[in-house]
Amino acid sequence: MKIAFLGCGIMGVPMAKNLLNAGHEVIVWNRTSAATAPVVEAGAREAKSASEACAAAEVTFVMVSTPEAALAVARAAKDGLSAGKGYVDVSTVDAKTSSEIAAIVRSTGAEFLEAPVSGSKKPAEDGALIFLCAGDEALYGRCQAPLETMGKAHFFLGEVGQGAKMKLVVNMIMGSMMGAFAEGLTLSEKCDLDPDTLLQVISLGAIASPMFALKGPSMNAGKFAPAFPLKHQQKDMRLAIALADELAQEMPVAAAANELYKRARRDGCDDEDFSAVLKAVKK
Ligand code: NAP
Repeated sequence: MKIAFLGCGIMGVPMAKNLLNAGHEVIVWNRTSAATAPVVEAGAREAKSASEACAAAEVTFVMVSTPEAALAVARAAKDGLSAGKGYVDVSTVDAKTSSEIAAIVRSTGAEFLEAPVSGSKKPAEDGALIFLCAGDEALYGRCQAPLETMGKAHFFLGEVGQGAKMKLVVNMIMGSMMGAFAEGLTLSEKCDLDPDTLLQVISLGAIASPMFALKGPSMNAGKFAPAFPLKHQQKDMRLAIALADELAQEMPVAAAANELYKRARRDGCDDEDFSAVLKAVKK
């Protein structure tokens, strides 16, 4: 397929490279042009604007940081969209923003799919993401090949907004788990237990998790190279809590975890991995 890829951050670069490796023709664009280099070196053509990229492609994938960024990119892309084209936003945003993007896209005659992903930098590199799709089912059908290239699973969840909500629920759970994990590591250290032994104990029991196994050793070593930037995890906690507010759903655990991420952001951890929430707990 001819695929435009907008957004070359931690996730966008490996996703676009996997599309190229699978034989798709990729037209790439990023707000800051320099960031497209690894995708261009892998064989993509760089477009001068988001709309130029969309105009050249059958389907456009978008992977940018925040609801504001995703909306700005959709507005910039609009002139390149028309009937017969598809626009798939895989950024993590709230349902309202996704509906606004859907309206912009559909006003051109193009089809829209929201498809936020579960999985981080390594699953993006390995083509092992999980896509949480919603919107135009015909476009979902047309996107099977690229979704299978970039991911290990994909779900169709119905109306626009349902994919966004599923993603926020998942990341709210993840952020709360990481907060509790950081407290456990800190408490074990404070009472003279070896945190590496704690990791072993956790790995053998019912609370074993790939996330604890992956992040635990680097957290104990005080290393927080970003796979999932902490500022994005706090954005997702904020959006999940806003969703719960609308539904009058209490979320005391997530709200407490969110306070830790906010403290970590205030302390300058925005661009470190979200596991750097450990620093806020230790302080
Ligand atoms: P990232 O490395 O911070 O990259 C963010 C991208 O957004 C960059 O390409 C950036 O362009 C672009 N951007 C930011 N503001 C923009 C604007 N106003 N207009 C146009 N482009 C803009 O983020 P990431 O880790 O790849 O994450 C991208 C999205 O995926 C986020 O929604 C995140 O929550 C979600 N996600 C991330 C992970 C993960 O583990 N990293 C996992 C699942 C989902 P510039 O280069 O110009 O700044």
